Amino acid sequence: MSDTLFTKIINREIPADIIYEDDIALAFKDINPQAPVHFLVIPKKPIATINDISEEDRIAVGHLSFVAAKVAKEMGFAEEGYRTVMNCNEFGGQTVYHIHLHVLAGKLLGWPPYTNKPKTLE
Ligand code: AMP
Repeated sequence: MSDTLFTKIINREIPADIIYEDDIALAFKDINPQAPVHFLVIPKKPIATINDISEEDRIAVGHLSFVAAKVAKEMGFAEEGYRTVMNCNEFGGQTVYHIHLHVLAGKLLGWPPYTNKPKTLE
């Protein structure tokens, strides 16, 4: 598998506004924010989609939620609330095939999350 955009961010081959890093995960601000706060938490291991998570990846993938909450507390919006989302494949709206947890905050978020009519209802 060739390097995705996000592997290039991990390797500092392209710039990003990195807000957290440890041995397992990296968090950086989304380039096209959908809320006043919008960042992505990714595993350093390149896993293409949720469907590709193996048994051995379970701790690393759970760690992404731990990092989301840790950064939320540090940034001061944990109590107010936020949303985490991981999109999968075309119907899930996935565009970068290296799993990432979106963290959205800073406004009252609507539900359901889509803005267009879902394809299954067309
Ligand atoms: P998804 O559609 O769930 O695959 O989300 C991919 C996300 O990556 C989108 O929200 C994009 O705005 C974001 N994104 C794409 N390129 C970059 C980049 N170079 N730096 C930060 N975020 C990016």
